[in-house]
Amino acid sequence: MSDWESSSLARVLPPASPRKLAKVPFVELADGRVQGVVSSGSDIGRVYVSSVLAGTFEFACSTNNNRPCGGARGSFCNHILALITEAVLQYGAERVARYLRVEPDELSAPAISGAMVDTRPSQGDRGAAAAVFSRFLRHLAYLELAPSTAPVPEMQWFPPTRAVV
Ligand SMILES: [Zn+2]
Repeated sequence: MSDWESSSLARVLPPASPRKLAKVPFVELADGRVQGVVSSGSDIGRVYVSSVLAGTFEFACSTNNNRPCGGARGSFCNHILALITEAVLQYGAERVARYLRVEPDELSAPAISGAMVDTRPSQGDRGAAAAVFSRFLRHLAYLELAPSTAPVPEMQWFPPTRAVV
């Protein structure tokens, strides 16, 4: 029997840092991208689906209705910057930098974003937005799970101690 089979304790991932779920309700390192959902600063009914591709830093940002983000012309918009900031909070700067294959001067969100912007990345197509948004909706479905004490790994992004609004 392996260790986990003979143990009464489930191994749990180290808890994620508390972060602002109201601003960036969903961020993940998946499909070769840092991608997620960012709330609109002005309209609570609108969210943006933002992503940055590893390696080339090709970026995309559009609304949940698939309208292009006005801020993401030529360079990263504020939604993408917020996405990187929250990704660093959730996954740690080292992991985010390694995933994106970027070599920042220091391990911080501004340095990671700055190093990518310095390469003048191009704007990618918005084809992935629908997939990202449906993954976000799938995550929301966990909120409807019956209460249980068994670990749900996907819930790790909820802060374990205090809520941050
Ligand atoms: Zn944007």
